[in-house]
Amino acid sequence: MPYVKVPAIATDKAAVGVGSSSAADVATPSSTAVENRAMILGVAASAGLARGPAFICRCDESVVVPRRAVADAEVPQEIEKLEAALRAADGELRVLQSQIQQRSGNAEAAIFAAQAEMLHDPMLRKEITQRCLRSKINVEAAVSDAAEKLTAAFNQIDDPVFRERAADVRDVARRLLGHLLHHEETTIRDLPAGSIIVARELLPSLAASLDQNKVRGLVAERGGATAHAVILARSLGIPTVIHADGATQRIKPNDHLIVDGLAGRVFINPTADIQREYDRLQVDLDARRNALKDLIDVPAVTSDGVAIKLNANVGKVADAAMAAAFGAEGIGLYRTEFAFFAHAQFPTEEQQYQVYRTAADHVRPGNVVIRTLDVGSDKLLPYFPLPAEANPSLGRRGTRLLLGHPQILRTQLRAILRLSATHPVSLLFPMIGGVEEFIAARAAVESTKEELRREGQPFNAGILIGAMIETPSAAVTARWIAREADFLSIGSNDLVQYLLTTDRTSMEMAAYYEPLHPAVIQSLKFVLDAAAAEGKAVSLCGEIAGNPAYTALLLGLGVTSFSVAPGEILEIKRVVCSLSMAAARQLAARVLAAGTIAEVKACLGVADRCGEAAAHPV
Ligand code: PEP
Ligand code: MG
Repeated sequence: MPYVKVPAIATDKAAVGVGSSSAADVATPSSTAVENRAMILGVAASAGLARGPAFICRCDESVVVPRRAVADAEVPQEIEKLEAALRAADGELRVLQSQIQQRSGNAEAAIFAAQAEMLHDPMLRKEITQRCLRSKINVEAAVSDAAEKLTAAFNQIDDPVFRERAADVRDVARRLLGHLLHHEETTIRDLPAGSIIVARELLPSLAASLDQNKVRGLVAERGGATAHAVILARSLGIPTVIHADGATQRIKPNDHLIVDGLAGRVFINPTADIQREYDRLQVDLDARRNALKDLIDVPAVTSDGVAIKLNANVGKVADAAMAAAFGAEGIGLYRTEFAFFAHAQFPTEEQQYQVYRTAADHVRPGNVVIRTLDVGSDKLLPYFPLPAEANPSLGRRGTRLLLGHPQILRTQLRAILRLSATHPVSLLFPMIGGVEEFIAARAAVESTKEELRREGQPFNAGILIGAMIETPSAAVTARWIAREADFLSIGSNDLVQYLLTTDRTSMEMAAYYEPLHPAVIQSLKFVLDAAAAEGKAVSLCGEIAGNPAYTALLLGLGVTSFSVAPGEILEIKRVVCSLSMAAARQLAARVLAAGTIAEVKACLGVADRCGEAAAHPV
């Protein structure tokens, strides 16, 4: 019983993105039972059910700082408040540092060590106290003004080291203000175990602090189904509903929530009837999940004997552990951005080496495809300010950006190459726009190898270097790129966005973000054929690879290597084992002859998004 049918209710919102399918074997609570006034209808972004108290995260909102004049006699009191806040912030940072160190290792904990150090910086303390003393203002306003002055000064210096300090100052000031103003929800890391995070937006930097042991579910007002924090939530198996309008207003701290990441609904303090309906659904889901566990050691082979590679997409060390637990052959896409989000400044070569090594250890002897840093557009690092662009997703991003910052690229390449001496790893360059960019990226690898050779550092001289095909220009020139690359990896999330000129993060455009558009299917076929003609391996790592409703089509088009979120591996394996390649090819031939989305969906038996039968994998 692989799927859960979403009950039909009148709405123009639908459960979109990953995991939609027409099959429906486990019934969800009936429409009448789930009709409830305290319900927010959003969009399902990570399958599963979660229940727990709400934690309203205001991390993306700026703090309102009260401002008042203070009399001379009050100044010592204000300074005393500052000292107390400094002590509290320091203690909090030390605890966080050791917790994160235990959970994710030194590299991820370094952000808190750097911030604790900043608290003791005499310059910061002097800036604040001078303002209380001379300008006679309250300490909260003094902290805010001092932080503003210091960040502006650091930002003006044309040196990345100083700009990194500016980001530190902002973070530290935020924490201090949290203590001074007695905000209960200072940071996302303060949340009690078992909480459901409710936020306006799941920012990429929030993703680095998600801990599946603490976070049961996520509810966000904004963000797309392929936004990075959402991808991470999916890989951690955290049920998520996005586009939950007004959630941060309608939901109060500690409200009891049910997050239905199958149908895209959030119930606030649900009635006993609703709870019973979801108890029943939970039993069905658990039974389904347990049945899938039996597949962990079963090889992924079609019924007519074709072996299929099932790798995992990972972003954090914890995902790599999940990948191993679900029997992934290796890591088909290691998104290294998350290792950078976890730091207050660029991680050093050694810090990167340690993080990548820990992830590779989890899936050893499986291979790890490590993608170089893919930032720009919607993925921004606070300490790497980029010049404003009118259309950032058409601007400096991925490999283009790194080629313009050779020092950042070189540091990362050194860490990955050093790891290749002892672990099976490959290199992957994102957002390749054409052959020239890939050749330039390859040249950067060669010169980094030369440097390591001179230093006597060991590395695998034959490390495979791949190109991501996720822009239309790369898809169209895939044959030429395949001649230069050792392998290709199709990133359908961006490919769909750029082919269909539809922002992948936008809810307003969600109806146009259609992976089953004939343009997408024809492009996939074109790239798969190009790689085959050049005798190069190709893998599919975008979110469509993890949707069981598409598996037959993808196999028929020629995909024999999938890289999906760890939690999706077993479901895809189940579908692979149940299909014959011959039938998959026949299906693909019919789909390739279709000129409209509706025809494609009819071939696959997938309902239209606004139809009633949209269903989601468990
Ligand atoms: C993609 O675009 O499909 C992809 C895998 O890259 P990301 O989602 O990290 O942009
Ligand atoms: Mg991409």
